Amino acid sequence: MIIVMQHGAGDAQVGQIIEELSKRGFTVHRSTGQSTTVLGVIGKTESIDSREVELLGGVDKVIRVSKPYKLAAREFHPSGTVLHVGNTALGGDEVAVIAGPCSIENEEMIHATAKALKALGAVGLRGGAFKPRTSPYAFTGLAEQGLCFLRDAAREHDMFSVTEVMEISQIELVASYCDILQVGMRNMQNYNLLRALGQIRKPVLLKRGNSATYEEWLMAAEYLLAGGNEQVILCERGIRTFETYTRNTMDIAAIPVIQSLSHLPIFADPSHGTGLRSKVPAMSRAAIAAGAHGLLVEVHPDPDHAISDGPQSLTFDQFSRMMVELRIIASATGRRLAGAE
Ligand code: PEP
Ligand code: MN
Repeated sequence: MIIVMQHGAGDAQVGQIIEELSKRGFTVHRSTGQSTTVLGVIGKTESIDSREVELLGGVDKVIRVSKPYKLAAREFHPSGTVLHVGNTALGGDEVAVIAGPCSIENEEMIHATAKALKALGAVGLRGGAFKPRTSPYAFTGLAEQGLCFLRDAAREHDMFSVTEVMEISQIELVASYCDILQVGMRNMQNYNLLRALGQIRKPVLLKRGNSATYEEWLMAAEYLLAGGNEQVILCERGIRTFETYTRNTMDIAAIPVIQSLSHLPIFADPSHGTGLRSKVPAMSRAAIAAGAHGLLVEVHPDPDHAISDGPQSLTFDQFSRMMVELRIIASATGRRLAGAE
């Protein structure tokens, strides 16, 4: 159940409602927007008579959310969530491009990548230090050493950093080095990990599981939100279908659908979405045209010799050409690229 307060309803009125419902055993999440406060009430709310709530001081209206996700639902935050990471706003009118290698391979390459990408307009630097790999024999990342390289490269070039956290025991370490913690496709339904990430107060970028429905994905986000972590970004990264030409099938429709169902920022990862370097620019353009708030793209100084995901990583030249196109698409949709002059 969602309670929308009247414009100008005071803290005392809001506090009274929270106290009353908490006493009755409900959990109440408060979202304070620019002009209104919205309360998300979690529990067996069928037992609440909404007419009674509507009569309480300061209440504008009561909305019953029939979907299983409540805090992730658009109704909870109709204007959309905007997160602030460093100087960048994610989820608003600016399109944020996060780019970097699949894995942090060494100090030199991550610094060279950060330098090039920042000059070309990326605002965030990605790179994996803990890598989930399909083969147990593949490179699994530089762990803390990699996190340290990523943090220093991002800081030096005034970018924010994004890296994957694979398990609960890594959360503290990863959070101490990076700005946004990524939950990978393979962990989207790792509910213990999600619960633990619900307890931190740093943004989490939640990739879509490769066979997850929109509802399952939003329920995963709900785990983070229910723990009190309001800084959640969703990221479409392709799903598994019968098609084998591309590594995954990039579900562009997810972008407008998620935007209608949820208030959370939605990003797109065309690198994992296609697995093919030559198809990444087209899918990036499509994602921005469809309304994505940003991109997570793999770029490598020498993709043909990358340790992981080289075939889907752009060269700096390709990235540069793509950014020119993305500027046009962003402005055609009434927005602009973040970080642009
Ligand atoms: C990645 O971003 O490098 C990654 C492993 O992504 P996903 O979890 O979407 O496969
Ligand atoms: Mn990758």
